[in-house]
This record gives sequence, C-alpha cells and structure tokens, in this order.
Amino acid sequence: MANPLTPDVLVDPVELTRALVDVQSVSRNEKELADYVEEVLREAPHLSVDRLGNTVMARTDLGREQRVVLAGHLDTVPINNNFPSTVVDDLIYGCGTSDMKSGVALALHLAATLPEPGYDITYLFYEAEEIESKYNGLALVAEARPEWLIADFAVLLEPTYGVVEAGCQGTLRVQVRTAGRRAHTARAWRGINAIHAAGEVLRRLSDYRPRTVTIDGCTYREGLNAVRISGGVAGNVVPDECVVEVNMRFAPDRTEKQALEHVHEVFEGFDLELTDSAPGALPGLTAAPAREFLAAVGAEPAAKLGWTDVARFAALGIPALNYGPGDPLLAHAPDEHVEIGKIRDGAATLHRWLAAADLSD
Ligand SMILES: [Zn+2]
Repeated sequence: MANPLTPDVLVDPVELTRALVDVQSVSRNEKELADYVEEVLREAPHLSVDRLGNTVMARTDLGREQRVVLAGHLDTVPINNNFPSTVVDDLIYGCGTSDMKSGVALALHLAATLPEPGYDITYLFYEAEEIESKYNGLALVAEARPEWLIADFAVLLEPTYGVVEAGCQGTLRVQVRTAGRRAHTARAWRGINAIHAAGEVLRRLSDYRPRTVTIDGCTYREGLNAVRISGGVAGNVVPDECVVEVNMRFAPDRTEKQALEHVHEVFEGFDLELTDSAPGALPGLTAAPAREFLAAVGAEPAAKLGWTDVARFAALGIPALNYGPGDPLLAHAPDEHVEIGKIRDGAATLHRWLAAADLSD
C-alpha cells in the first residue's frame, strides 16, 4: 500500500488522525505504521531520523538553548468492531482515536510543518505502550538509546481532553501477614486465630486518613487500601495465617523508600513484605519550557493520579506531563472517539507554544 501520510494529509491534523487510525497497529503489530511515519520524517530536511525496532525518533538540531520531547505511542489495544474510522458530525470514531492517534497526529503534524521551532524538539513515536512493560518502546529506548531522551521537558500526548495532567502518583503493594497457631475448632483455646488478628490490620486501614498534597498547583490524593485478603485452612481448623494485600498510591513528594517506610509505620508490629513498587513523578512545572507551555494552554494543570510513562522521563530527571485531545474515559472503549474541535485546539496550542518560544529566542 502507498504511504497514506501524504503532504496534504500531514498539514491537517484532523485528516492525519483519520489516516493514522486507518492503519491498524495493535501492539506488536506496529511495523507498517512505523514504516510510514519513518518515511515521511526522513523526507523533512530539518529532521534527523533514527529507529529502534518499531520506535521512530526524529529531532531538530538548531542549537536552541532548550530541548523538548513530544512523544506518543503508535500502538492500540485490539480492535473491537471499530476499524476503520468513521466520522459522525464533529466526532471521529475508531480504535485509537482517543488513545492516542489524535495525539500522535499533533506531534507528526508539527514535525512535518514546523522547521524552525523555538526549542529544539525530539519527536518520539514509540511501540507497545499498551502491553507488558518489557516491550514498551520508551523503556527499550531508555535502555539502548538513552541519549534520545535527553531534554529539558517532555510532553506525552496521551488523552487528557485538552487538560494538562502533570506528574503522576507512585504505587506500591505489600502483604501484611498475621500468624497464629492451628488447632481443632472443637478445642479452639489451644490455637491462636490469625484471621482474627487481621482485624487490627483492617481497623488501621479504616482509621487511616490519607494525605492530600498540592505540588506546583496540582493536588494529589493518596490512598491506602486493602485489595485482597486470604486465610483459612478448613472448616474445622483455627487458621495459623492470614494475608492482607495492601496497595498504597502515594504523592510524588515521597520516594518509593519513604512511602514504604510510611507503610511500615502504619502497620507497626506486623510482618510486612513488599511485592511491587513504582515511583511517582513530580509535576516539574517550574522549568521554563513547562511554564511557557502552561501559558499557551491557558488553564490550570491537574494532577495525574494514575501511573503513566511520564514517570519514565521523571526517572531520568526530565520533567514531563500529559496533554492530548482525546478523552481518557473513552480510551480502550468500543465507542472510542475524539472531538475534531479538540484536535484543532491542541494543534493551535502547541503551535502557539512553540512559535512564542521562537519569538523570545
Ligand atoms: Zn495511551
């Protein structure tokens, strides 16, 4: 098939969204789309282009003082009777319209049409965000081509419905274990009931008052919740073990270590085992390109409560945020769609930001 990303399509982010949606790219099947993207980027004389697997990187090298990353994943979740795209009034329906080919369209449109941005820009179109993190294109780049990620600020064009969502919360899971002694329930006084002992664990959880933390104007709400409980041996046995699995979502002013210490304090006296942990990311909105970006958007940022690839940039010390035209509530839904107006607004905002930076240079 001839490359559908023609010059006429590249200048219009709405047409470009449709063209991207109409090339199927379910995770692990991004090659065709990555080939098309690479081909059009190589035709732009102001970009140098490289590729790792099905992740394509293009960058300007204008010697600007600051460099920003615009990044988006090329893959989608499996299609669900929503391919190819259709247009109804001012909505484009189809798999990946919201998450996140409308965002990818903004980045690709800018890459093709903005030869002299005020910042140097690194564009990253990466594979396999929707599946296990060992396949994640950004993770693979961080491993094999870390120099591609060096920047002062990064924008991930994930669906946020045109709102700036900054930073992200960290997450960890622990198993809180209570021990007892088995006995026949007919002679229960000879045993110690571990499930009863878990009552104290649950009481501490229900008494717990999670913090609300505001950083750079973004409000994060922490949470400490039992997510699973197991215990019991048989219908006539006093149980000798009970395990309560607890998930903590923590604001990005705590490190993973500090969050774990906090959980230890909450469950003082209990046996605790860490099973999973991922750091949060500070919003980082004080960096100059971030402040100028917020001015271009003209709205207050909101906190990202879930975990996103923003944290991969934060781990490298690069402030990053999410901003995209799609509605996150429609991501992965069979009636996934995007508003054409949101795509146009997003393109105008990004142009305003990068053009303003141009003037201040
Ligand atoms: Zn996504």
